[in-house]
Amino acid sequence: MTLPRIVIERCHYLARCTEEPGAITRPFATDAMRCAHELVSEWMREAGMAVRRDNVGNLRGRFEGSGEATLLLGSHIDSVRNAGKYDGPLGVAVAIAAVQRLHDQGRRLPFAIEVLAFVDEEGLRFGSTYLGSRAVAGTFDLADLDRVDASSVTMREAVRAFGGDPGRIGDDRWKGGRLLGYCEVHIEQGPVLEAHELPVGLVSAIAGQSRHRLTFAGVPAHAGTTPMDHRHDALVAAAGFVLAVEREAVATAGMVATVGQLSAIPGAVNVVPGGAVLSLDVRHPDDSVRAASVQRLLAQANEIAAGRKVRVASELLAENRSLDCSPRLTALLSRSIEGSGHPVWRLASGAGHDAVAMSDLTDVAMLFVRCKGGVSHNPAESVTMDDVAVAIDVLFTFLELLSES
Ligand SMILES: [Zn+2]
Repeated sequence: MTLPRIVIERCHYLARCTEEPGAITRPFATDAMRCAHELVSEWMREAGMAVRRDNVGNLRGRFEGSGEATLLLGSHIDSVRNAGKYDGPLGVAVAIAAVQRLHDQGRRLPFAIEVLAFVDEEGLRFGSTYLGSRAVAGTFDLADLDRVDASSVTMREAVRAFGGDPGRIGDDRWKGGRLLGYCEVHIEQGPVLEAHELPVGLVSAIAGQSRHRLTFAGVPAHAGTTPMDHRHDALVAAAGFVLAVEREAVATAGMVATVGQLSAIPGAVNVVPGGAVLSLDVRHPDDSVRAASVQRLLAQANEIAAGRKVRVASELLAENRSLDCSPRLTALLSRSIEGSGHPVWRLASGAGHDAVAMSDLTDVAMLFVRCKGGVSHNPAESVTMDDVAVAIDVLFTFLELLSES
């Protein structure tokens, strides 16, 4: 069987490791993850790697080289609820395939390769993202161990039940000596590569992101007896803001902004909404552009609220700076894409990835693989065998170029 076919088949096998029959749902530190670990460990060993598990629960496969430095490859093997087969697992399977090719050829590179299968990127179980990669990067927040899942199990208990020592997650930080960088293959999760008929794309940056919660407060009133000019309707103000968010993003090149949650309070058919709570998610590869847009939007929220005689309060929930991929590693990836006979298309990632957390440890680079319709976080996720073949070739050539550089 060819390596691209093996990679696709492995993503299908992993899909069977799920806690919901008929769907793919593979949260952190569960039996479904244990099932995934058994499979991935076996594949790593087949490719000549020594496999170990760290305390947080990442699988690490090491393929020794002739020198002391190490290149890290990898992605995540957890999933969202009702996920697709490729978001995460494809990057792990392609990395193992590239190592498999070295192993089959009996080759050693001047550096070791460590393939990391991160145990939690999506944050499905505890609502905290990049658990696996933050442990490796040494930025794991020990306060997260007190988080509880939907069944009131703490992360500390979950780590212990999964076989790790929660008190020693600090030991998961990379201690293997000099690093050459971290390179991650991932499905694009967007429509750009498909639109340009390209199998792979070079990630130039990962967009920074801000998340806010806005609360509009008006006055609840009777829907039948309160005249239109006497209302302090919080939801109408919120609706004006939703449109302002769209206008701001459309007017700003490279920006995406989303109101994904909006609730009316009290939410009754015959009550003028006295409250409205919404989420605001703003992303842009340039942090200063993002910050300026967020400021404008929050100012507009105040204006809109004043015009509607309601009040508004905003709260910053999360903020991640944007990340530039390593020029050195990206140049090598670019050469290997050219070598595969395809044009090099650079794009910024709007989604966060383990590479964001890994950038606190070492230089990072990412290769995107075209996915059908740009669909992800959905059972309809799909990639082609031909595109996977290109991804394996590009990653393999990248390893060769790195060994010459
Ligand atoms: Zn992912």
